Amino acid sequence: MISPIDRLSRQSECPASIQPRTVKFLDLAKLNARLRPVTDAAIQRICDRCDFILGEEVTAFEKAFAEYVGAKYCIGVASGLDALTVVLQALGVGPGDEVIVPANTFVATALAVTRTGARPVLVDVNKEDFNIDAKRVESAITKKTRAVIPVHLYGKSCTWEALQEISDRYSITMLEDACQAHGATYKGRKCGSLGIAGAFSFYPGKNLGCFGDGGAVTTDDQEIFTRAAQIRNYGQSEKYLHQDIGGNSRLDTIQAAVLRVKLPLLDDWNQRRRINAETYRARLGDVDEVCLPSREDPASRHVFHLFVIHVEGRDDLKAYLEREGVQTGLHYPKPIHLQPCYADLGYSDGDFPVAEWSSRHLLSLPMGPTLEVDEVNYVCDKVRHYFRGNR
Ligand SMILES: *Cc1c(COP(=O)(O)O)cnc(C)c1O
Repeated sequence: MISPIDRLSRQSECPASIQPRTVKFLDLAKLNARLRPVTDAAIQRICDRCDFILGEEVTAFEKAFAEYVGAKYCIGVASGLDALTVVLQALGVGPGDEVIVPANTFVATALAVTRTGARPVLVDVNKEDFNIDAKRVESAITKKTRAVIPVHLYGKSCTWEALQEISDRYSITMLEDACQAHGATYKGRKCGSLGIAGAFSFYPGKNLGCFGDGGAVTTDDQEIFTRAAQIRNYGQSEKYLHQDIGGNSRLDTIQAAVLRVKLPLLDDWNQRRRINAETYRARLGDVDEVCLPSREDPASRHVFHLFVIHVEGRDDLKAYLEREGVQTGLHYPKPIHLQPCYADLGYSDGDFPVAEWSSRHLLSLPMGPTLEVDEVNYVCDKVRHYFRGNR
C-alpha cells in the first residue's frame, strides 16, 4: 500500500506542511560552503609556496591556539589520538605503568595508553554528566599509576577541583582529553589549560575541525613542549639528530591554514550550539520519558559538542526518528571494557554499571553551529509525537 506521504511525494507539488524533511546530524557542507572563498585561498597559497610540512601556518596556528586556550605552548599533531600518545610518551609513560581512563569515552583515550605499552585502567563515569567519577578514580590508584586522563565528554568540563585534589594528594599527573571540548571552560579557565597538558582533535566533526585529520597538544610545561615537539617529528631536536624514538605525527600545513581561518569563528559557533541546546531543553523539558543533559553547572561552560539524551527503548526511538528524516548518533554504544580489542584487560559485563546503562539508553540528537531553530523544533516535535503515540 502506498502511504499518503509517498503518494504526495510522487506528485510534482508537495504541500510544505507535509513535505518530509531531513535534519542532518551535523551539516558540515553548509558550514564549509560559507567559508569556501577564504579556505580555498589559504590552501592555494600553501600549494603555491610548497610549504607543506611544518610550514609557517603551523607555527602561526600553534601560537593562536595556545593563546585561545590560555596555555604557554601548543604543538600541532596529526590527530587527537596522536596528541594523547605524544603527551604520554613525552612524560615517559611506558610498559609496566598504569593510566586511568573513563569507561565511557571514544576508544582513542584508551588506545593512546596501550600504544605506549602501558595498561589502561578503567573507571566508571558519574550519573550526572557521564564524565569520569572522581571518587572512583581514587580507589583505582595503585603504585603503578602514572597518570589519569579525564575526558571532558560531550563538551562539558569534568569537575576539575575534585580531580586536582587527587592529583595533589597522590602526586599523579592529570592529562586532559579535550577532544570534544574546544572552548569549554571550568571556573573561567579553558579546557586544555587545566591539567599538565591537553589533547585536542581537529577531526572534521569536532567543534573546531579541519579538512581531514589534525590535532594539538597544549601545555605550560616547557619540558613536555620540547619533547612532544620532537616526538611528533621523528624525535629530532635538529635535522637528522634523533633524541627520542619518535614518529611522524605532524599537523599538515594545509590543515593548519584551514584551522587558522576557522579559529576566530569558534566562539560564535559554540554560542549557536548552546542556543540550540537551550531550545531542546525548553521543548523537551516536560517530556517525562526523556532524560536531558544535566543542567549547566555554573562553574563550567558547556560547548555541546554533542546533545545527548537518555531514554528507555532507545533503539525504537532512533529508528522512528530515522524514518522521519532525523539523523541521530550513539556516543558510545559499547563501553571500552566490552570492546573485543580489550578482552585481555580482564573486565566483564557488570563492572561499570553507569557506563553500561548509559550505552544502552543514550541518543545524540542533531547538533551543530548551522542547525536552525526550526530544525530543532522539528526534531522536538517528532520526539514528542513519538512518546505521545507510545503511551
Ligand atoms: C575524537 C576523539 C578522539 C580522537 O581524535 P582523532 O583526531 O580522531 O584521533 C579522542 N578522544 C575523544 C574523546 C574524542 O572525541
